[in-house]
Amino acid sequence: MKKILVLNSGSSSIKFKLFDMDRGEKVLCSGLIERIGEKEARFKLKFGDKKLEKSIDIKDHAHGLSVLQEEMKRENILKSFQELGGVGHRVVHGGEYFDKAVLIDDSVLEKIEELSPLAPLHNPVNLLGIKAIFKQHPNIPQVAVFDTAFHQTIDKKTFMYALPYEYYEKEKIRRYGFHGTSHHFVMQKAAEVLQKDTNKINLITLHLGNGDSATAVKEGKSIDTSMGFTPLEGLVMGTRCGDLDPAIVFYLSKKLGLNIEELDKILNKKSGLKGICGDNDMREIEKRASQGDEKAKLALEVFCYRIKKYIGAYTVTIGKVDAIVFTGGIGENSSLVREMVCIGLEDSIGAKLDTEKNQKNELIISKNDSKIKILVIPTDEEFEIANQTYNEVANR
Ligand code: ADP
Repeated sequence: MKKILVLNSGSSSIKFKLFDMDRGEKVLCSGLIERIGEKEARFKLKFGDKKLEKSIDIKDHAHGLSVLQEEMKRENILKSFQELGGVGHRVVHGGEYFDKAVLIDDSVLEKIEELSPLAPLHNPVNLLGIKAIFKQHPNIPQVAVFDTAFHQTIDKKTFMYALPYEYYEKEKIRRYGFHGTSHHFVMQKAAEVLQKDTNKINLITLHLGNGDSATAVKEGKSIDTSMGFTPLEGLVMGTRCGDLDPAIVFYLSKKLGLNIEELDKILNKKSGLKGICGDNDMREIEKRASQGDEKAKLALEVFCYRIKKYIGAYTVTIGKVDAIVFTGGIGENSSLVREMVCIGLEDSIGAKLDTEKNQKNELIISKNDSKIKILVIPTDEEFEIANQTYNEVANR
């Protein structure tokens, strides 16, 4: 019973990955069901060196999971879901209830549901996957792994917004932080690389992908993070603005007559890198910048400057930083972004980038005598979910 299925359920999609935790955490298969509920859903499965892709009608998430089970059986990956040791679900919002992964029972289901107003696009659809498995296989243990859980160690002075207190008490408005599964995963990997106990490690972890966030880790715990009440705050992202003077929203509303929905769309979907230069794919932005495109160069500069500002703030907050960790699609691959972020850090905080190692995407990209190490660690959120699920099931 060491096989763990990881599910990430979206509104019309289910991403899945099956791990065998007994065999060196081997990935048995992975894939995606897209366009659930539409005329022709797409089913994509990868196993070994084989790929399978087909269009089938899938009416809802429960149906999608039945199809997944059948396909796994047909391809001799798994006889039935009954072979699973557990199912781990990515759940976006755990609010103040959950500071770690949790075995799902009725009361956990209720709480995830209760938190839905805080993550209306995510928690309700995350629940669809959980409920579908419960219905078909009530005896399989299921575990919820929350994006917010790792950041529940952030203290009150840090998570409070300076708003009327009742909004915290009644509306639950505070910093929650997201990407916690990724920050936690790279924190553990960094501890291995630096040969330190996780409870002694101090880091600034930078998850740079389509969504971007920075976390200050002290003694293995998150003590501050850049995303806030929602994943809109903090760093500049692909299409999200990150930190903003809230008065801009009132001003735009009055001046251009924009309503709340339009403003929401502008801040979440039309801002960030895309807002500044029209592109949100970093590879494209780098290409345009290298050809002298001014807006692409500016987007890169704004993106990297914001990260640098957070590094400065978190260095002071943490005290003694062991390492800065880059992860996510951009953090793992863009030597240019890493270089732009690290320029000047040698003089200010003693983090010396080795440009050659950086170019080669090495694991440790700082110079040997750098006071603060700089690391590139590929994230693996699915594995982290599988691992936490496995541990929760084993500790039942
Ligand atoms: P998500 O947050 O959706 O999981 P990823 O972590 O996959 O996204 O990151 C996507 C971002 O990574 C995109 O901006 C993409 O351009 C960027 N990226 C991927 N590979 C490279 C590369 N080789 N150089 C620069 N940027 C890259």
